[in-house]
Amino acid sequence: MPVLLPGAETIGEARQATLGVLGGGQLGRMFVHAAQAMGYRCVVLDPDAISPAGAVADKHVKADYLDSFGLAQLARDCDAITTEFENVPALALQTLAGMRVVAPSAAAVAVCQDRAVEKAHFQAAGVPCAPHAVITNDIELAAVDPALLPGILKTSRMGYDGKGQVRVATAADLADAWDNLRRVPCVLEQLLPLKAELSVLVARGADGQIVNFPVQQNLHRGGILAVTEVPAPDVPVEVDRLAVAAARQVAQALDYVGVLCVEFFWVHEHDAAGRPVGDGRLVVNEMAPRPHNSGHWTMDGCDVSQFELQVRALTGLPLSEPRQHSASVMLNLLGDLWFSDAGGPTTPAWDRVLALPGTHLHLYGKAAARHGRKMGHLNITADTPEGAHDVALQAAAILGLPTDF
Ligand code: ATP
Ligand code: MG
Repeated sequence: MPVLLPGAETIGEARQATLGVLGGGQLGRMFVHAAQAMGYRCVVLDPDAISPAGAVADKHVKADYLDSFGLAQLARDCDAITTEFENVPALALQTLAGMRVVAPSAAAVAVCQDRAVEKAHFQAAGVPCAPHAVITNDIELAAVDPALLPGILKTSRMGYDGKGQVRVATAADLADAWDNLRRVPCVLEQLLPLKAELSVLVARGADGQIVNFPVQQNLHRGGILAVTEVPAPDVPVEVDRLAVAAARQVAQALDYVGVLCVEFFWVHEHDAAGRPVGDGRLVVNEMAPRPHNSGHWTMDGCDVSQFELQVRALTGLPLSEPRQHSASVMLNLLGDLWFSDAGGPTTPAWDRVLALPGTHLHLYGKAAARHGRKMGHLNITADTPEGAHDVALQAAAILGLPTDF
């Protein structure tokens, strides 16, 4: 892959090197910020006239992901194209790949879009995942091993932030839940007793160079990421090593190019009933073919952010090994913060939060706050993990967020 230098005129065309992004959400916005800081122009394709990334891009192509005119326009404008949206139709990436450098590939994104295919990939890569069964018809439903119950039934496609998931305790629950999910292809996973949730971000270049960020410990509330802490406070060194090795293995086995986030469950050896669970203490949950919410701390806690590494991987530039210079905590800021206890609209007390040392506010420019909507995040950096944790608790208290971490 030829290296695409920032600010340079591209081969045969007198224009600034330009990067394209499919999707106009906050991940696209932060990618655009990183790319522009390095000297690239950016074009975003998104169907919505108003979007967080479209608002900061040099150009916004307003088109559906499968609109052939829109895709042709993006290819004309750009030298290399990525996606910030994991459910972008694989066909859109395939079409673009016929015209321009595209990373990650349509094939890699397609694996991440389907839980059943994704789990088969983990197994093929030799990385343990939660015990599970694929359910696509009545025969498979009837054949489910009772040892998988209690479990979580998840739609194979289009799930995010815990959507499309139902907890089931019995075979009858399972049958009902599958009916309620309109009998779309699903995966039933054994409900695992979690000690903690972890994730690892890796970046891999087209030449096979691979680097990783340190292990991240994540707290979810209601299926949505709430807090990330790095270094991971509860994780012993052997679990840390296993997670990094597994994430690299998953990326390599996919021949992946770009930033990939691999999410893990660190599980207790036995469930509440004393039964042994899983193949080991660390199982992979899922992966995201893009920068990830749990990696937002890298913008302030590392000497290179996950978004800059995505730019470097896409353009064929060297991937520098990330160096964490500050202990970090990230608090996700959901739309709920903009509603007072009485229900009315309010502005969070940013002035009080930003008076705390090492606080970095990132808002995504979304006009309307809604419950559960990701509006921004707050990074807290400090010399020590205890220091970052302590300030994060103070910030959470000011914002009225739970202080359960
Ligand atoms: P994302 O937004 O991360 O893509 P998602 O909707 O794809 O979320 P999962 O990551 O599969 O969903 O699950 C959401 C959360 O539900 C997990 O982070 C975890 O807290 C819990 N969970 C999911 N599967 C299991 C399991 N097998 N055992 C225990 N808890 C689970
Ligand atoms: Mg998840």
